[in-house]
Amino acid sequence: MSANDKYTTETITDVRPWTDSLFSFRTTRDRGYRFVPGQFARLGVRGGAEDSIVWRAYSIASAAHDEHLEFFSVVVLGGAFTSRLSKLKEGDQIFVERRSYGFLTTDRFESGRDLWMLATGTGLAPFLSILHDFATWETYENLILVQSVRTQPELAYEDLIRGFEKSEYYAEFAHKLRYARIVTREPVPGAFGDRVTKLLASGVLEENLGVKLDHDRSRIMLCGNPEMVEDSRKLLVERGFRLSRRGEPGHLAVENYW
Ligand code: NAP
Repeated sequence: MSANDKYTTETITDVRPWTDSLFSFRTTRDRGYRFVPGQFARLGVRGGAEDSIVWRAYSIASAAHDEHLEFFSVVVLGGAFTSRLSKLKEGDQIFVERRSYGFLTTDRFESGRDLWMLATGTGLAPFLSILHDFATWETYENLILVQSVRTQPELAYEDLIRGFEKSEYYAEFAHKLRYARIVTREPVPGAFGDRVTKLLASGVLEENLGVKLDHDRSRIMLCGNPEMVEDSRKLLVERGFRLSRRGEPGHLAVENYW
């Protein structure tokens, strides 16, 4: 593995397509690479002007204890980075900045009992990492994961999420997880059809999941489509929830995805 002050050179070890425009991939991980679940990495691929490296931020979907790194990506139409990335295959090289970034981490919160994780699309990735952190399961009484996508095939990682209850390591905690799927552009049995904002505003989500949003208990993370993040944030701020700031823990932590 060649190294540089700012980044390491890693190898793609696995690529998993979910749909024509949605895929996950794994890379080797430098032994010195550290991150807190919920953070993102900066990944580089060759192909910029004069074969320079083009860099983009990608939330890490894998666990802090995994030997590999995993990422979840869309192919953005006409997007220079993701179209290159989507052509990468096992054995190809990718660059990973040595630093990890971001504040969508549970250490932004104090004293909550219910952790709400609201994701659209690939915004699911940081929550997968957070869900693989044993501290999350130990700290909270309820973990509420909401995954919103347009169509059913985009419900990536559903098996993994449902698999916690059968997992040797997580089964004892798995009863704490409440998982809601939202599919907005086609009817899917058992999934909600309305946007998360509508389900929050109407109280339908809380009622269905049997957990109330509450200032003392609820700590809420939002990740994905910037409009969803903004609309949900507004709605929650109107209900008296506060954004966590550095040195001032609140109820909300947010990450825009593009
Ligand atoms: P998306 O438009 O983000 O939709 C995903 C889910 O979020 C859908 O259920 C959608 O509902 C819902 N949603 C969208 N806006 C919302 C809002 N304001 N409030 C509540 N829910 C909302 O679709 P996507 O397939 O994940 O991404 C779409 C496109 O975004 C991609 O094709 C790509 O071009 C771009 N994108 C770019 C990046 C990047 O890194 N550059 C990353 C991800 C996505 P509706 O069906 O009702 O809209």
